[in-house]
Amino acid sequence: MALLQALRRLGQVAPVATLQDWPGLIEAYRRWLPVSAATPVITLREGATPLIPAPVISERVGRGVKVFLKYDGLNPTGSFKDRGMTMAISKAKEAGSEAVICASTGNTSAAAAAYARRGGMRAFVLIPDGYVAQGKLAQALLYGAEVLAVKGNFDRALAIVREVADTYPVTLVNSLNPYRLQGQKTAAFEVVDALGDAPDWLCIPVGNAGNISAYWMGFNEYREAGHSRTLPRMMGFQAAGAAPLVLGHTVEQPDTIATAIRIGNPVNRENALKAKAESNGDFMAVTDAEIIDAYKFLGSGEGVFCEPASAASVAGLLKRRDEVPAGATVVCVLTGNGLKDPTTAIEHNDSHFHTGIDPDLATVARVMGF
Ligand SMILES: *Cc1c(COP(=O)(O)O)cnc(C)c1O
Repeated sequence: MALLQALRRLGQVAPVATLQDWPGLIEAYRRWLPVSAATPVITLREGATPLIPAPVISERVGRGVKVFLKYDGLNPTGSFKDRGMTMAISKAKEAGSEAVICASTGNTSAAAAAYARRGGMRAFVLIPDGYVAQGKLAQALLYGAEVLAVKGNFDRALAIVREVADTYPVTLVNSLNPYRLQGQKTAAFEVVDALGDAPDWLCIPVGNAGNISAYWMGFNEYREAGHSRTLPRMMGFQAAGAAPLVLGHTVEQPDTIATAIRIGNPVNRENALKAKAESNGDFMAVTDAEIIDAYKFLGSGEGVFCEPASAASVAGLLKRRDEVPAGATVVCVLTGNGLKDPTTAIEHNDSHFHTGIDPDLATVARVMGF
């Protein structure tokens, strides 16, 4: 660090921001957010995630299309939920709240737990029993949340937490909480800041539809302020077994390997439909097989490990690739880190995993194919 500063003074290194300079998204985008001097900022320095070029996927799409991955799995708790949670928890703290509650397919609970505890609040999280990836459960427990695994799906758990928050002194931090989307819209700002304009397409996985709504809000605010000239087409992808926005009706028993989007009754349905209509976008379903193909391809082709739900964005792009205009810029949002769900990675990969190898050179060389 000292060396870098010395080189900068000598004019040897461009004065680029280091990650240590990044104050977290509330400070970075303060004037775009509903915070004031009275708001206690609860932050883990979330945001500023990389927009990674994806040459192998670009090649697959062809015709000079440039694909980028917005890798939000690099947030402090490993998903984009941190963007919304720094806002929701800071505002809950400002309002004097002492406890928060959410229903979660896993990532919201991890983020709620981390930020609530950092803000000195209790965190109650309701998760669908048996349908939360290992890493996410580990996080909620380690961050010190009070975890309630309910015998029902996410939609049922959400109905319960809404009632709890209406009845008891506990703040709801699901994406019904308007501050969540405010924080999440900053991802769109970062995309525009990185590209110099909005992409032509934004491909994004859709569960409760908060994130697609937040991106659309962010792109619009930035364009109205003159930071971009254009708006993207919003392309939302749902898992085929949990695709209420594609089917046009609630799904009673949502089912998919992509547990983060295993949601049958999206809370932000209206906002998402508006984003689709206004952006000339679309919703489409991708099968679990297509999701797993994209998931494996992202890892072995691009060196990027995301969770299965995140790969729905790339699965969707590949499905619709013939419709992408030649030379267009496409951003696929990778919502969560692959380490969240090691079980799926170990069960679904094309790697060679040789076990029981005798510990000698001859055997190792033989197995290596020499
Ligand atoms: C929450 C989540 C989603 C879905 O986002 P919505 O705002 O509910 O549409 C997608 N992927 C991951 C990894 C998530 O945690």
